[in-house]
Amino acid sequence: MATSSFWHSFADMQAITRDGPLVLERGEGVHVWDTTGRRYVDAAAGLWNCNVGHGRTEIGEAVARQVGRLASFSTFGDYSNPPAEELAERLAALAPFPAARAFLTSGGSDSVDTAVKLVRRYWSALGQPERRTVVSRESAYHGMHLGGTGLAGIEPNRAGYGELVPDTTRVPWDSAEALAKTIESLGEQHVAAFICEPVIGAGGILIPPPDYLAEVARICRETGVLLVLDEVITGFGRVGEWFAAHRFGVEPDLVLCAKGITSGYLPMGAVLAGERVSEPFYDGTVGLWRHGYTSSGHVAGSAAALANLDIIERERLIPRVRDAEVVLAEAFTPLAAHPLVGEVRTGTGLLTAVQLSTDALARDPALPAAVVAALRAEGVLTRAIGQGAVQVSPAFVITDEQIRDLAAAFATALDT
Ligand code: PLP
Repeated sequence: MATSSFWHSFADMQAITRDGPLVLERGEGVHVWDTTGRRYVDAAAGLWNCNVGHGRTEIGEAVARQVGRLASFSTFGDYSNPPAEELAERLAALAPFPAARAFLTSGGSDSVDTAVKLVRRYWSALGQPERRTVVSRESAYHGMHLGGTGLAGIEPNRAGYGELVPDTTRVPWDSAEALAKTIESLGEQHVAAFICEPVIGAGGILIPPPDYLAEVARICRETGVLLVLDEVITGFGRVGEWFAAHRFGVEPDLVLCAKGITSGYLPMGAVLAGERVSEPFYDGTVGLWRHGYTSSGHVAGSAAALANLDIIERERLIPRVRDAEVVLAEAFTPLAAHPLVGEVRTGTGLLTAVQLSTDALARDPALPAAVVAALRAEGVLTRAIGQGAVQVSPAFVITDEQIRDLAAAFATALDT
């Protein structure tokens, strides 16, 4: 069934061709099945996107109904469609600021690139084109388009391409003071925006120090620098609120979304903009903004997103995440005592990293891959992230018992 014609993402194709892929064909809740009929627990919710769990036929039915009426039409210029209109209204109501406007995209990397262009276009429209630099953070992941790759703080993701986006710079991920100093040394009149993941995801589930986000929000406000929160992972309930901005009590200028907007059932993304940034694009200052994608406001993607938001609301999955985060912390924290584990980072929604210890990683750099393989043998799918951490970010429908079973499987895999 598997062929070597399918060139996988983020893969060593020599190894995949040699060992064969794991071909998954079915899912239900937190479980997926491969083509041999073996069942696995999806401990990462795919790529932290399948938040409402697998097998939600009502999302498929909503998409089928929509595709039966109108499958595809652009939203360039004055074209629109009912699901995109409804989704934008709904997102505006959920956004962590008043008078939000939603620029719809086809995924997280699109949202990041849209944001980079948007903040620069904003400043040039305001007669300050020299406000161009975008500051990101070490350990950051902002997708794989040229813009996001250029901003990446995970160094290997940037290596080998040369300079992708001029006028970008990075600061330590956990220091608001470093951001303030960088803005000061660049001169605030040269800084367009600061972009950050409220909780760093692919960089290792790094939870910011208390008050970090409030402090960077203050620094941005005082220097006029736009604050962009990349909530591609944290949005739509993953951290126990609609957005991490709500959880951390900050008001950004832009919020970037994807993944959980449709729970991954179809590719979809959005940039939510507060009034400050959107106004020049609405009051005639910019005129026609030459930006957008064939699938911006896609009819089927929007229908999938609406059905997904219905499930999150109807099943009260966000309060469920708040309860589950406590169970997750209780179940996983004891793993910190395991000789191979350095720490367990937990406590902000359904997001946990089991960080392998520096000593263990120095002895065996292949340890994260070995732990992930041992977990697979235990019937658990997840992956290594950051600097030797293993990701735990299950679907919101996971039960308390399934969380405890997952922690037990981790203990066994570590022993193996
Ligand atoms: N931003 C963050 C924080 C992400 O974690 C990701 C994907 O993992 C992206 C952007 C890119 O999203 P996509 O893969 O949908 O392009």
